[in-house]
Amino acid sequence: MHFKTIIEPFRIKSIEPIQFSTRSQREEYLRRAHFNPFLLNSDQVLIDFLTDSGTSAMSSQQWAAMMQADESYAGAGSWTRFENAVRDLTSMPYILPTHQGRAAERILYNHLGGAGKYFFSNTHFDTTRANIEFSGAKAVDLPIEEARNFSSDFPFKGNLDVDKLGEWIENVGAENVAAVILTVTNNSGGGQPVSMANAIAVSRLCKSKNIVFVLDACRIAENAFFIHQNENEYKGHTFYLIAQEMCALADACIMSAKKDALVNMGGFLALRNKSLADACTQLLIITEGYTTYGGLSGRDMEAVAVGLKEVFDADYLKYRIRSTTYLGNALKEMGVPVIFPIGGHAVYIESDKLYEHIPVSEYPGQALVCSLYRTGGIRSVEVGSVMFGKYDEKGALIPAEMELVRLAIPRRVYTQSHIDYVVEVFEEIVKTKKQVKGLRIIQEPAFLRHFTAHFEELSQ
Ligand SMILES: *Cc1c(COP(=O)(O)O)cnc(C)c1O
Repeated sequence: MHFKTIIEPFRIKSIEPIQFSTRSQREEYLRRAHFNPFLLNSDQVLIDFLTDSGTSAMSSQQWAAMMQADESYAGAGSWTRFENAVRDLTSMPYILPTHQGRAAERILYNHLGGAGKYFFSNTHFDTTRANIEFSGAKAVDLPIEEARNFSSDFPFKGNLDVDKLGEWIENVGAENVAAVILTVTNNSGGGQPVSMANAIAVSRLCKSKNIVFVLDACRIAENAFFIHQNENEYKGHTFYLIAQEMCALADACIMSAKKDALVNMGGFLALRNKSLADACTQLLIITEGYTTYGGLSGRDMEAVAVGLKEVFDADYLKYRIRSTTYLGNALKEMGVPVIFPIGGHAVYIESDKLYEHIPVSEYPGQALVCSLYRTGGIRSVEVGSVMFGKYDEKGALIPAEMELVRLAIPRRVYTQSHIDYVVEVFEEIVKTKKQVKGLRIIQEPAFLRHFTAHFEELSQ
């Protein structure tokens, strides 16, 4: 018997109240946040889909492990458990603990990068791109063609275009390629999975050219679910084994543990090569902390060690992916343009197709983000020209490839009734879409502007 209701594979032991608000309160909160929901207080938010990063609910096993943590400065038992868990997953000998993913990125990409160097990726995530560009290097996105074809139901739209990668390597010279980064799942490319076949092809090409192959493994468990589902050779594998096989292909592995390690803070850099590990360890000690804790407390490392196992639980992963798909399918049915197939951790909406009356230069994605907040207290994030836009010499906007809005779903936090509420809010969003206005940026920093930019609504 197959029941259609998604039941969460856990019961709730500890609850956290959420705050309700009226529409007029939310109008005021939004104005005070300069139309940038990153600047809202969380108690002004009803359903927080801003990010799935660091927002997971931990299990009783994780909390229990935290109580047993060893906070010794060097060689703590918590470090050993963390190191073993990461080593078991990645099969890499050198494990560097960091306080989150971008710290690992800063260490590795600063070391490998610099002026004249190139990084290639299926799509660089925002902190990845920022760290690379900050080093002076160039970050080039090479997603496959199908990634942009929203009518195709190709299951691995997160794949990297290996032919194009080959051409780029020829053009710039292998010695100028700092690294190739495969991000699984492809967060900025619609949260789409990467096939094992693609990872194998990328790995082969990198090996033949002596180029460092980095796996950004933030969502490797969710990616493993899709491989298990859609790549025949892996039907008999456990999710964990699939993830291990993927890590085995890479020279380095970066992970923000705030995603698929089911914790609120943490990350790591795992490396296969000793001289690379030595250089990175120098930077680790200078900027993060001693080698057996990096930027983490013993408690944090315990939670990661347990989370890295729990995330591969079959019941958990099925619930996780089904619940994201449920939301995505409901939106698709009511005519909201979503990226299809639905990815693992988030539903992505093509805001420029929803708001055809708002030009890209007036940030249709930011307009949708504001409208979701006003209408239902839902916080989401723009992944379009606010996040990735640049200016030409004359100050005109060079828009991003896509104008997406991401509804990122925290792990183990919301139940199906929360998701049903979000679906209802979207019915209202669709009904009132013509009244929504575009925005203008009135204040912004040089890097990662989406976090702190201030906006003004345009009158029509
Ligand atoms: C979140 C994320 C990062 C950065 O990790 P932080 O822990 O936020 O610093 C890097 N890459 C990808 C794909 C991510 O999703």
